Amino acid sequence: MKVPLLDLKPQYMQLKAELDAEIAEIVSSQMFILGPKVEAFECACASYCQAKHALAVSSGSDALIIALMNEGIGEGDEVITTPYTFFATAGAIHRVGARPVFVDIEPVSFNLDVAKVRDAITPRTRAIIPVHLYGQCANMGPIMELARKYNLVVIEDAAQSIGAQCDGHVAGSTGDYGCLSFYPSKNLSAFGDAGAVTVQDDAKFEKLHCMRNHGMAPRYYHKYVGGNFRMDALQAAVLNIKLKYLDQWTAKRQANAAKYNELLAGVEGLTLPQQAPWCTRHVFNQYILRIHGGKRQKVWDGFKAEGIGCDVYYPLPLHLQECFANLGYKAGDFPESEAAAQETLAIPIYPDLSDEQIAFVASTIRKLLS
Ligand SMILES: *Cc1c(COP(=O)(O)O)cnc(C)c1O
Repeated sequence: MKVPLLDLKPQYMQLKAELDAEIAEIVSSQMFILGPKVEAFECACASYCQAKHALAVSSGSDALIIALMNEGIGEGDEVITTPYTFFATAGAIHRVGARPVFVDIEPVSFNLDVAKVRDAITPRTRAIIPVHLYGQCANMGPIMELARKYNLVVIEDAAQSIGAQCDGHVAGSTGDYGCLSFYPSKNLSAFGDAGAVTVQDDAKFEKLHCMRNHGMAPRYYHKYVGGNFRMDALQAAVLNIKLKYLDQWTAKRQANAAKYNELLAGVEGLTLPQQAPWCTRHVFNQYILRIHGGKRQKVWDGFKAEGIGCDVYYPLPLHLQECFANLGYKAGDFPESEAAAQETLAIPIYPDLSDEQIAFVASTIRKLLS
């Protein structure tokens, strides 16, 4: 039985008529950049995330960059984040000229270990970027407490966690900024690249809005050096339609996770995804197994042989990446991140999986680890 890691075709077929009509309308109008579709999406997105404002941008990576630029973070500044995340989180810090300072994760949620953040704060620290990995939030309460005490900006990387909640607060509504991605593998996906920044403060939003279009206000008068971080009308139209279905799809991801939890309970050498005590809504962008005893490769090979999709997010923590060698980190600096990189495996969790597919994936794991 074929079980892809992700298949977006059923979602497209479900909404084809609605999506095709919207796309045709935009093509007929020949108005492709920003405009009313983008504004409508910004309203819906802010409301969904319980944030005061949302700015639609070109990608999740650009959302991180524009948030850092908006705070004037750059040369000589340090930004604290996790080494166990997609590259874009630390890449954005480097791109604005600042220095990524890594802090290890805790093994339950795979997110920043808040107890270790304090020791990484120096007089140069300007911001913290907690990442809400796999659909589960970092522990925002103590992060915000530290940030307020040391006057640091908090930029939530919620690229994998739209709609997740920490102590009842929606991802992107607690920090100064929240960064979302609508890359096709995320829970809310565009037909290409797109992202958004949520923000609570009116003045910060006004500046962000200007930064998105080369810091221009009014036309051809440039207050800041911003960039082209604009979202296409086509992407906004797709997102406007899909956002209405997001809770339904999230419920399916959660139900799929519950089925795996049941079918995989008690397998020796396997740790199932755990929910941290502060996590009041896990949106399961990924369902992550921890496979002990060096057996991940065995499961990987067995999956490939059976036609089951899987992947490793991520095989090499960021402090060990070649491009960051100049930061001076070495193997052993962040043992939890390094262990996670060795042991984790993402298995199919997308909403349209059938019960038969889930049962087949689970029984294949049982067989491979028995
Ligand atoms: C996907 C992702 C990004 C980047 O988003 P893009 O839209 O692909 O640029 C940033 N951070 C994390 C944690 C991600 O998963």
